[in-house]
Amino acid sequence: MGVPTRADLASIPDYIIPGQPPGTILLNSNESSLPPLPSVVEAVTRAAAEGNRYPQWFSEDLVARLADELRVPESSLAIGCGSVSLCQQLVQAYCAAGDEVLCAWRSFEAYPVFARVAGVHARTVPLDAEHRHDLTAMADALSPATRVVFVCNPNNPTGTAVSAREVREFVERVPDDVLVVLDEAYREFVTDPDVLDGVLLTREHENVAVLRTFSKAYGLAGIRVGYCVGAPAVVSAVNKVAVPFAVGRPAQAAAIAALADTEGVGERCRTVAAERERVREALLRAGLRVPASQANFLWLALGYRSGDFAAFCARRGVVVRLFGNEGIRVTVGLRHENDVFLQAAEEFAAITLHG
Ligand SMILES: *Cc1c(COP(=O)(O)O)cnc(C)c1O
Repeated sequence: MGVPTRADLASIPDYIIPGQPPGTILLNSNESSLPPLPSVVEAVTRAAAEGNRYPQWFSEDLVARLADELRVPESSLAIGCGSVSLCQQLVQAYCAAGDEVLCAWRSFEAYPVFARVAGVHARTVPLDAEHRHDLTAMADALSPATRVVFVCNPNNPTGTAVSAREVREFVERVPDDVLVVLDEAYREFVTDPDVLDGVLLTREHENVAVLRTFSKAYGLAGIRVGYCVGAPAVVSAVNKVAVPFAVGRPAQAAAIAALADTEGVGERCRTVAAERERVREALLRAGLRVPASQANFLWLALGYRSGDFAAFCARRGVVVRLFGNEGIRVTVGLRHENDVFLQAAEEFAAITLHG
């Protein structure tokens, strides 16, 4: 029967990785369909050649480069092995048994999992009728036990974003001793000028931290590097609970090389955003309900039909992400990939909505 784990581990779900048969179009993980730039691959190769040496402890070179890019002091940046790692570090650094993490639902699935791993209760507040964060209800749900609030903007998996005014009003209502974490994993795909750049807010509020990643817009999901922007006290707390040397040399080098071409990245993101609008309009024309998205994916609120739809797509060689009986999330890929998906969606809609 083996060695018993701590008792509450049984309540934490195992990771289930769905099949991704070779040759299929992968629109299930919000990755970039394009490989990293050759200059990034070269930087990774050079870094690998020094793989006998430990990497920089705090990714100092990357911190310096990012500080320049974001116009923030180096002391306000922490680097992590993907921004999910930084999510976990924030929970570990700020929460102890009896404390609470507050987040929206549906939102990023990692938040409640990290809370439970830390032995902390995750209180969730339903999204509003438009699949957006209900920040008024979230402010009302704050309790004396709340230590960390996650606001995923744009939200994964619905793609919806809250406005600058809404975020500012929310932060005003949060006590100074509660940390607001703005998870901006999809910030680079935002086209709506009403959506706040969270980094600005970190300059005004010491209890606001922003998480960003190289996994999505920069196309480095397999390399694992993300960052946290916040007050120096937040950064040192995050760094204290980090796994030593979790961000390897290839990851640090890849991020630095990727930052050399922010224009190219911006161009890729604009293409994705334009495709997002094209795909959404076609889905709406087909009679499907799809909230406006500011990310590199769309949410189809298909309810009990979600499983059938995911299976229908799979038979046409497209892997989408299924969320039980709630909906499916589809990543915006390259034009020809999106066209294969759209064809499947249109056929499905014709059969189930009108058939
Ligand atoms: C993808 C994603 C992340 C970051 O993932 P990493 O690969 O760990 O950087 C963080 N938050 C949300 C909401 C995401 O969707």
